[in-house]
Amino acid sequence: MQLISGHNMAAGVAAWLPFARAAAIGWMPDELIVLNVSGRRFQTWRNTLDRYPDTLLGSSEKEFFYNEETKEYFFDRDPDVFRSVLNFYRTGKLHYPRYECISSYDEELAFFGIVPEIIGDCCYEEYKDRKRENAERLMDDQEDNKDAKLPNMTFRETMWRAFENPHTSTMGQRHGDLSVQRSREKRLFSSRELV
Ligand SMILES: [Zn+2]
Repeated sequence: MQLISGHNMAAGVAAWLPFARAAAIGWMPDELIVLNVSGRRFQTWRNTLDRYPDTLLGSSEKEFFYNEETKEYFFDRDPDVFRSVLNFYRTGKLHYPRYECISSYDEELAFFGIVPEIIGDCCYEEYKDRKRENAERLMDDQEDNKDAKLPNMTFRETMWRAFENPHTSTMGQRHGDLSVQRSREKRLFSSRELV
């Protein structure tokens, strides 16, 4: 066990809490690791990340990003979206922050190897709507500018088809609310485009 020196006493005490809780249920977390995302530091247990071995952080691929000098994993990525990424490991639920651009959010998820299909029920409809809005806008752009090539179209189309076959049975029930939400968002989007 590590000794807690005087100057970092507060941090040390806070770090003991999960240990105490873990000990109470007979499980000891192995190692506290630091994830540095564009200068913002996140700490978590290695076990927490190991829950999803098919993702970047849950696999040994993350060792590529380990900095021996700082003893941190460094990612030159968006720290705001990373909050959602890390919360996914903690809670098993993926949420979509409403203020986040859908493309940017998808890019961050793709980098960390997390599939957006696992977004929680609370955020799924919002995410899907944004996705649809974005796909529609891209289609419009494509029609307006037929010569221009959109490199991500295949991926987007794949996502689109995934949404056409919803897994959840609650989809139908929510449809009424959705159309209202969608027209509200359309207004939001069109006013944004004017800026
Ligand atoms: Zn949510």
